[in-house]
Amino acid sequence: MASEPGMVIVGAGECGARAALTLREEGYDGPVTLIGREPHLPYERPPLSKDLMLGTEHPAARIVIDEDRLKKAGIDHLARSEAAAIDRQARHVVLENGLRLPYEKLLLATGCQPRRLPAVANNSRCVTLRTFDDALAIRTHLHRGVRLVVVGGGFIGLELAAAARQLGCPVTVLEAQPRILMRGVPEEIAGIIDARHAAHGVHLHCGVSIEAITDTPAGIAVELKDGAAIEADIALIGIGAVPETALAERAGLAVENGIAVDAFLQTDDPAVFAAGDCCSFPLALYGGRRVRLEAWRNAQEQGALAARNMLGAKEAHAAVPWFWSDQYDLGLQIAGLPDEGRETVRRDMGNGALILFHLAADGRLVAASGIGPGNTVAKDIRLAEMLIARRASPPRDRLAAPEAKLKTLLAA
Ligand code: FAD
Repeated sequence: MASEPGMVIVGAGECGARAALTLREEGYDGPVTLIGREPHLPYERPPLSKDLMLGTEHPAARIVIDEDRLKKAGIDHLARSEAAAIDRQARHVVLENGLRLPYEKLLLATGCQPRRLPAVANNSRCVTLRTFDDALAIRTHLHRGVRLVVVGGGFIGLELAAAARQLGCPVTVLEAQPRILMRGVPEEIAGIIDARHAAHGVHLHCGVSIEAITDTPAGIAVELKDGAAIEADIALIGIGAVPETALAERAGLAVENGIAVDAFLQTDDPAVFAAGDCCSFPLALYGGRRVRLEAWRNAQEQGALAARNMLGAKEAHAAVPWFWSDQYDLGLQIAGLPDEGRETVRRDMGNGALILFHLAADGRLVAASGIGPGNTVAKDIRLAEMLIARRASPPRDRLAAPEAKLKTLLAA
């Protein structure tokens, strides 16, 4: 373990792992320490609610860096280790076991925690899904006929609902808002996803609030405020995630819907950076609007960017937000921030696939949301993303026409 100050990363998820590798790729040869609370090697979270649920009952995690690669790169991975405090004056990270790790630069890549429903905190039949261990526990429950209630119509809940239906489980989804996917997904696209769940036999109820979840002899009863009750065997609480900011807050760093960083992912302490799901940052593309993204590619990109800036690159964040979700045979992809749009242009691509182009008041393309079977929208969303990055204002009629190649708009 390093006794001389080096690069210390708290959080061995997608972002922390990418940052550690980038430090080496950029030629840094001092100590690199990756501290992670979980017992596993860094792994991918997206499969947890998708392939992993549909595969065998004893699935393996999809590892981001294996032992061999960690060893070859000279990255010291401390698993099962909780960073308890940051002594900013001494530039030490203090582990729960009292160990002090000196740092030259520190990266906080602490991710998120599922938002809890306090009323069900101690009910073992009410579960959340964030970690590989959560996924394993849920997977062992999901057998044909096991009744699942999903509280919250967000991505993770809906992906789990789709997987559970495919495993033969009766599924009910309860959403407090008037529709599913209220945050960040246009209504038209949410409607397509809603209809697909209904076609697969999911009972979806929007605009409902939960009064309590109680134990019954056969399982649990989810009691709604309107007096109705739904019997189930297991409930997934999927009501969003909250950024892990406790360590930063205790260290007196600014927190504003996540650990607040500037365009270089630097906190208000020049020796401390934050990246990935845990941080909020200004998006230059949208006039410096401060956002926090919970997205796999963002975690990767910001991990790499933070590492370069820890080495002094002074490179500002410039990537376009991008997110995907898979449910049944449907692939959803969103580039940019749809809520920045004031007008929508629809392109029907045939085969049930469509893309909505979101334009700002001045006609600039600010986002594109696509949905279709499998990967059908992927290529065009990628091209739209490039148009967004260029701040292009493509003609509306060309955007609407499926025969007009987005590539030619890019060339123009
Ligand atoms: P995390 O992956 O959360 O890693 C942070 C790590 O830090 C955790 O392991 C945590 O235990 C550790 N940590 C926190 N505090 C401490 C501490 N004090 N000491 C030590 N360790 C600490 N994104 C998409 O774009 N598309 C998808 O389809 C998609 N599907 C998803 C499905 C699921 C089930 C989940 C949970 C997420 C999904 N995501 C998806 C989101 C994506 O996985 C996240 O954006 C990404 O994992 C964020 O990476 P991160 O490294 O910032 O945070």
